[in-house]
Amino acid sequence: MSQTTAPLTFEVTRRSDPRPDAEREAVLANPGFGTTFTDHMVTATWRRGEGWTDGKVVPYGPITLMPSAAVLHYAQEIFEGMKAYRHEDGSIWTFRPEANAQRMLRSARRMTLPELPEEDFLASLRALVEVDQAWVPSGTSGESSLYLRPFMYASEAFLGVRPAAEVTYSVIASPAGAYFSGGIKPVTLWLSTDYARAGEGGTGAAKCGGNYASSLAGQLEGIENGCDQAVFLDASTHTYVEELGGMNLFFVTKDNRLVTPELTGSILEGVTRSSVLALAKEMGLEPEERRVPIQEWKDGAASGDIVEIFACGTAAVITPVGELRWDGGSCDHRGGVDYGEVTRSIRERLLDIQYGRAEDTHGWLTRL
Ligand code: PMP
Repeated sequence: MSQTTAPLTFEVTRRSDPRPDAEREAVLANPGFGTTFTDHMVTATWRRGEGWTDGKVVPYGPITLMPSAAVLHYAQEIFEGMKAYRHEDGSIWTFRPEANAQRMLRSARRMTLPELPEEDFLASLRALVEVDQAWVPSGTSGESSLYLRPFMYASEAFLGVRPAAEVTYSVIASPAGAYFSGGIKPVTLWLSTDYARAGEGGTGAAKCGGNYASSLAGQLEGIENGCDQAVFLDASTHTYVEELGGMNLFFVTKDNRLVTPELTGSILEGVTRSSVLALAKEMGLEPEERRVPIQEWKDGAASGDIVEIFACGTAAVITPVGELRWDGGSCDHRGGVDYGEVTRSIRERLLDIQYGRAEDTHGWLTRL
């Protein structure tokens, strides 16, 4: 559903009552995650036959939708997640935004939503961060950033099941603090065997809301069993490890291989995942993308072949994994080390690039 239209521009209407400086500073000092939003948001509209129009930056606030809006019934919706980082000199950067733009294009194709060109995606981030730049925390005091959430949904008021003829794109932003406020701790994972997140031919590789709704039952089961997050297996054979509800997985072996489940169509291709694969070689590791049987995890934990496991994604960057539990058993590869050396050095390397403390040799940063 691509359509050639002129590049989007964003007309700015500033809020007449922005949050007072003291209130904003109090939020930035202790931002948490996903609860407070900046003063403004981006909106743009797509109509069949017209393409993208009406780019705007407007005060953050409620949106109006008809009860018949297609998204509320058929979940034609996609989103992205990325961060804006403030460097020591005050400049604001984002990490591989073109990868998020391209993933949003792939998600749009899968969900028959309109394609938002990469340049419009980037322009929308710039427009919002320009107006709300005071909301980008100083990153030097920790791992704070401004989380950016672009999303797109079927806003057409129509109950027929077909691709919507009117779609709304929006970007909102939320200050985010260090994911691990009390020091980095490994997560305990629950092996979800009754619930799958995504199936063959389904929407697992798209970043659409439905995938997250379908992951919640497995996630809840995990929490009821004292775990932090759930691991999903392939839905066809229940044999291979796929990913967590919101993060990709990596295994470090004792012979220095860095193994991650290959992209089968039901796994989300994380931007962090592909960055870790690119960094692996530089760090003396042999990257391996292939199917990973769940039995290999259990056996590798018992034999000592697996020495570290971590999950990765934009929000937490890199999270060490500890115990794996399932109905009737558990395994733990750790041998007393909660936060292994490989996990630590990859995490630090990524953060150093994102916060401008290391040279960006891959050209991953874009100034906003
Ligand atoms: N898998 C899923 C299902 C996710 O929601 C995310 C978060 N976007 C990831 C993996 C990690 O992706 P990224 O590194 O791009 O944040």
